[in-house]
Amino acid sequence: MSKLEHKRILLKFSGESVAGNEKQGIDPKILDGMASSVKSCKELDAEIGIVIGGGNLFRGEKLNKAGMDRVAGDHMGMLATVMNGIALRDSLERAGIKTRVMSAISMSGIVEHYDRRLAIQLLSDGYVVIFTAGTGNPFFTTDTAGCLRAIETQADLMLKATRVDGVYDSDPEINKDAKFFDALSFDDAISKNLKVMDATALTLARDHGLPINVFNVNNHSALKDAFNKIRTGRANPAILDDVNVDYYGNMTPINQTSNISIEEGRSIVISPWDKNLIPEIEKAILNSDLGLNPSTSGDLIRVTMPALTEETRQDYIKQARAEAENSRVSIRNIRRDANQAAKEKQQSSEISEDELRRIEDLIQKETDKFISIVDS
Ligand code: UDP
Repeated sequence: MSKLEHKRILLKFSGESVAGNEKQGIDPKILDGMASSVKSCKELDAEIGIVIGGGNLFRGEKLNKAGMDRVAGDHMGMLATVMNGIALRDSLERAGIKTRVMSAISMSGIVEHYDRRLAIQLLSDGYVVIFTAGTGNPFFTTDTAGCLRAIETQADLMLKATRVDGVYDSDPEINKDAKFFDALSFDDAISKNLKVMDATALTLARDHGLPINVFNVNNHSALKDAFNKIRTGRANPAILDDVNVDYYGNMTPINQTSNISIEEGRSIVISPWDKNLIPEIEKAILNSDLGLNPSTSGDLIRVTMPALTEETRQDYIKQARAEAENSRVSIRNIRRDANQAAKEKQQSSEISEDELRRIEDLIQKETDKFISIVDS
């Protein structure tokens, strides 16, 4: 059943998400938070590629509006993503994570030039690979670069970090009545012109069956929640990558004989170009070691992901424990920072020693309260 555990993910961090509340520059604390989330996913054997944006430093469109040539602005924007990538590598390496940075623009001596085959090799060898400089071309976004690199490196899922919990019809930080979408088809996202991603990125993901999950970068457990979703028996066409079918005497991967799509998250739908192949495809899936039962109606073969096994359930317990520990660490870090801030106020005589003790007491009570929520 190990093949049901789709584990290669592409994380897309925007430039703003590394800037903290200021929306500008780089906040090393935020990067350290990201590194700890990435680390907890790595501990669950995830293979992680990261595409990072540059909007916290430069955006070509904005520079263009201020009078600069668009292509020059986009070049600056792409270079900004390299700076963010180098900063993120620094945090990841300090957290003990093996990391490589690749750039779509050659920058010998600073970061490696993007090489797809090498990237796939590094991901399988356990490195986190940060892809920078977007697509290497002006007029694109790093969301498009995210989808592109996810598809190229055969990621099972793209996780897009934003400042909010998911996809809304308008900016929920501005409009309190913004409508939240639990799930959304690519076509709807494109036709509604939602700002979550540009149409080029969405079209690319749609055409190549890349699922995208949007999560809140400030909610560290949300990354794990989103990651866990890919291990709940969610349908993914990649599961059939190794299943070959007898195509007039040649053993051929199913995905080279059919259109493959996803239905309601849990079923893979196979539509063979040559309908005579239907019995062969059914046979190949049944004979594979995937434990899947195809069912055919008309010209379509459906493969529905089975319910959880005991083994997967145990896996979830392990994941839940790791996630709880991660949250406890975050809470203790918050306690440390709060105590530190209070102590500084006492040292600069803004508060008395008695007040310091009272505040420390309150901080401990809050800490206990949140730790007990995590425990329960
Ligand atoms: N950019 C580009 N080509 C790409 C990706 C990015 O020219 O393939 C430039 C573009 O100017 C963009 C800037 O880099 O505004 C930063 O990327 P993006 O706006 O996607 O960053 P994010 O919004 O994720 O921070």
